[in-house]
Formats: sequence, structure tokens, C-alpha cells
Amino acid sequence: MRKAVYPGSFDPVTSGHLDVIERAARLFDRVIVAVIRNPEKSPLFSFQERMDMLKASVPHCDNVAVDSFDGLLVEYVRGQKACAVVRGLRAVSDFDYEFQMALTNRRMAPEIETVFLMTDYRYSYLSSSFVRQIAGLGGDVSGLVPDPVARVLAAKKQRKG
Ligand code: ADP
Repeated sequence: MRKAVYPGSFDPVTSGHLDVIERAARLFDRVIVAVIRNPEKSPLFSFQERMDMLKASVPHCDNVAVDSFDGLLVEYVRGQKACAVVRGLRAVSDFDYEFQMALTNRRMAPEIETVFLMTDYRYSYLSSSFVRQIAGLGGDVSGLVPDPVARVLAAKKQRKG
């Protein structure tokens, strides 16, 4: 059983994240999408909202589970008995941070491999922060996020307006 953990803030989950999840699910027997409970950057969506939006976005992926963690990623990955961490790469701008994180994690846990999946060209420009900005300014985010997330954002907009 080859298990992988895909960690992130998912604030909110985007179509780019979902594409990485679906592709990782074809590579591994089981993929755990792990929401960082208290990310360094303070999230727009609460922990519960981020979890709920993810869960609503992956019902079609049989071997994908949504979970959460706090503290050291490598400890969580070990606890799950997973062999790999999955991360997505969009542009060169992602590389520095991802490179540092992968090597730091390898130093702490040499048995865990970090696997990078290159973004699909359709989502190469897409980030949660852009989705937050567009939604915050009343723009249409359909297509940029899974449908359940678009519905949550539309409901939020209605409540505000
Ligand atoms: P973090 O705060 O850990 O960077 P994110 O939720 O922003 O969490 O991203 C989680 C992972 O998904 C990161 O590896 C990030 O590079 C990747 N990712 C984000 N957006 C995309 C996208 N559009 N295409 C592919 N990978 C992406």
C-alpha cells in the first residue's frame, strides 16, 4: 500500500489543487490531503471551512481522504505510514520555497520522498490568493475553483451584499 500526503493551506482549494489531487490519486494507492490547521499566513477561511470545501470537492476520488495536521509535516507523514509528500509546482517562483522545504524535510526524514507534480497549463497562473482577491472584489471564480467552492463563495458574497 503506497500512501502519499498532499499538505497545504487550501485557503480555498482551487482547480489547480484538485488537478494535483486527481493525478496523485492515479500514482498512489491512497492520497491523504492534509489541511494545515494553523498556517503561518493567517487564512481567510476557517479551518472547518477549508476542510469542508475540500471534502465537498473530492467525492469522486475513491482513494483520497481529507485530514488535517498541526506541527511538523514529517511527523504527521510518519504517523500515517506514508512514503511520500506530494507538492505542486507552478512556476519558477514556487521552486525556491519548495526546494528548501523538500531538502529540510529529507534531512529530518530521509525515508520520505517529496514528489512534485507539474501544474497543468490551464492552472499554471492560479493561486488561492488570486481566488480570494477576485472573490473579495465580487468577481466570478467559476472554473478557477471546484463547483462546491464556487457555491460557498457565491453564498458568502450574497450574505455580504
Ligand atoms: P501552502 O501554504 O503549503 O503553499 P497551498 O494550499 O497554497 O499551501 O498549496 C499547496 C500545494 O499546492 C503547494 O505545493 C502549491 O505549490 C501547490 N499548488 C497551488 N496552486 C497550484 C496550481 N494552480 N497548480 C499546481 N499546484 C498548485
